[in-house]
Amino acid sequence: MTQLTDLAQGQHYPAGALYIVATPIGNVADITLRALHVLGLADRIAAEDTRNTAQLLARYGIAKPSIAVHEHNERSAAERVIEHLRNGERIACVSDAGTPGISDPGAKLVDAVRDAGFPVIPLPGASALTTALSAAGAWVQAFTFVGFLATKSKQRAAQLQAYAKQPAALVFYEAPHRIVETVRALVDALGGDRQLLIARELTKLHESLHRCTLAEGPTWLAGDANRQRGEFVLVVEGAPQQEDADDAHDALLAMLLEELSVSSAARLAATLTGASRNALYARALLLSKSAEE
Ligand code: SAM
Repeated sequence: MTQLTDLAQGQHYPAGALYIVATPIGNVADITLRALHVLGLADRIAAEDTRNTAQLLARYGIAKPSIAVHEHNERSAAERVIEHLRNGERIACVSDAGTPGISDPGAKLVDAVRDAGFPVIPLPGASALTTALSAAGAWVQAFTFVGFLATKSKQRAAQLQAYAKQPAALVFYEAPHRIVETVRALVDALGGDRQLLIARELTKLHESLHRCTLAEGPTWLAGDANRQRGEFVLVVEGAPQQEDADDAHDALLAMLLEELSVSSAARLAATLTGASRNALYARALLLSKSAEE
């Protein structure tokens, strides 16, 4: 442990820099050694809610002056932060939970500080986004982080329409009072067949991860009032990829069949095109039969 603490301390932490520090999304123990070191080193904390952050930092035995940087004052607060950076202070930016700038204040502060010529130094840590994705499974490869959808139904439907054909999985954040409505909207916009992961209360006492199809989502949520409580990440499978038309590789197969057996032609065509070997075999068989006739 001492060696690890030394590693956290061993890095250079320049003065006159903004440190973006991730804090836990539930379990207070989910904080990194470097985060604790930098929070201890910082002259000031730029916090989304200074009282929340003071309470959290007290759990780690840290007390620091703070500046409120929230959704409604981010630009003006950035000016104050920059003044402190000019005085050579190290400022740590934290949000109420997880990683600043991920559906949380922080991004405008980052822009302003970088534009003013000061370094912005990120410290990795908890985020509901990566925590949910880490337990999603292999059906999620590429993903698009959407965050919170619009609350008005028309706007939300238009947003979802724009994502409906994307092959990448979609990741949403949602609050308990809108979870049922949002899952229904997802079914309406994306159909019922796709996989859905409902990740609730991650890292907390009532954590649950439930995988089902989108069509099954509303019924599962309705099955127990507790399933609608807490904080949610929804991960939805991407749009199914369009299969190649049956005859997409006929010209290639016909050429290969002049020299090769049906199975060799199908194998080679599969290697060349990336299409399914079984589908190409069936097609090659058909082509060779019709050539014989
Ligand atoms: N910056 C945070 C992050 O890095 O994840 C997100 C902040 S955003 C204002 C809050 C939303 O994140 C919640 O409404 C919920 O959708 C999601 N969230 C945060 N903590 C969570 C948890 N423990 N379990 C599931 N979702 C969570």
